[in-house]
Amino acid sequence: MRNIRKIVVHCSATPATMDIGRDEIDRWHRERKFNGIGYHLVIRRNGRLERGRAMEKSGAHAKGYNSESVGVCLVGGTDSAGKAERNFTPRQYARLAEVLKGLQLVFPDAEVLGHRDLPGVAKACPCFDVKEWWKSKKEEA
Ligand SMILES: [Zn+2]
Repeated sequence: MRNIRKIVVHCSATPATMDIGRDEIDRWHRERKFNGIGYHLVIRRNGRLERGRAMEKSGAHAKGYNSESVGVCLVGGTDSAGKAERNFTPRQYARLAEVLKGLQLVFPDAEVLGHRDLPGVAKACPCFDVKEWWKSKKEEA
């Protein structure tokens, strides 16, 4: 297994009405000449978890940090005009909390953060403060 130091949360930058998942993202990433889907895990609008790239393999989701991170993608994150919008469903948040908890058991030293928290990232992805959210989730548990 790779040495995982970061768990990076992303969004698919699609509107709430688009019920897509691993297969669509895999196709889009192949069109961008990636070696298949760049994320390791995808959380659909209904909260279903889908596996993307094998965890043992480097992802293609966080420039400069791919070899040391796991990429988790929430489906959603923009309005119908493509503008950043925090529109994730309660089921997605619940699943994300579960997934992060599981990942932190396997990688106890890994830091949980959003794509936008990485140095040099100018995107809004995933459209909310993951660190703050995760902190409050853990306190609530
Ligand atoms: Zn991202």
